[in-house]
Amino acid sequence: MQRLRDLALEVLNEYQLLSEEFGSYQKTSGLACVVGCGACCNNPQIEASVLEMLPLALHLFDVGQADNYLHQMHDSGGFACHLFKRHSLDGLKGVCTVYEWRPGICRMFGVAGYRTKTDLPTLSVCSTIKASKPNKYADALITMSTSTPPMLTHGRQRIAKIDYSMGEKLMPINQALVAALEKVLTQAAYGALDDGNVAA
Ligand code: SF4
Ligand code: SF4
Repeated sequence: MQRLRDLALEVLNEYQLLSEEFGSYQKTSGLACVVGCGACCNNPQIEASVLEMLPLALHLFDVGQADNYLHQMHDSGGFACHLFKRHSLDGLKGVCTVYEWRPGICRMFGVAGYRTKTDLPTLSVCSTIKASKPNKYADALITMSTSTPPMLTHGRQRIAKIDYSMGEKLMPINQALVAALEKVLTQAAYGALDDGNVAA
């Protein structure tokens, strides 16, 4: 499964760029996440592609945890992202347990640009950031014409084009991780993980 490893490397390179672009906009606009917040992770409907979860699935395989995660996920209720560790009973505070390997959407969600139906660029900001930094949000809207935010759709397209067969279809994040783990484990079971063979 050298091909999966090559794809994962490309995805991680793109992640690095996306994190820099979206992080830089968050910093300059003053619209960074609220410290300790994990509200958006407390939701199993976050959508990711199998490709987005591939680097994490390979990492879990490499550290001998792929089977373990797969079993846990088949047994879990799926009330939140399986990778989220709650720090409060309501699930609004917490941390990502796989921060380095988190999918693309988690690097772009929070503050991102999008286009309206009439194709005008506008700003999408999560309700927690909006509520905690209303003045910064207002400033960012005012300066949209001179400081355009990075576009979520473009980010998604850049990841998807690395491999459309795994990157185009979006599904709930836990389901995407299960599919990525199954792909990795299936190829490993057929001995194609590190022998350079390319499986579909
Ligand atoms: S992968 Fe991490 S950052 Fe993304 S939703 Fe899950 S816990 Fe949150
Ligand atoms: S994007 Fe919003 S909800 Fe998610 S962690 Fe940041 S502040 Fe919290």
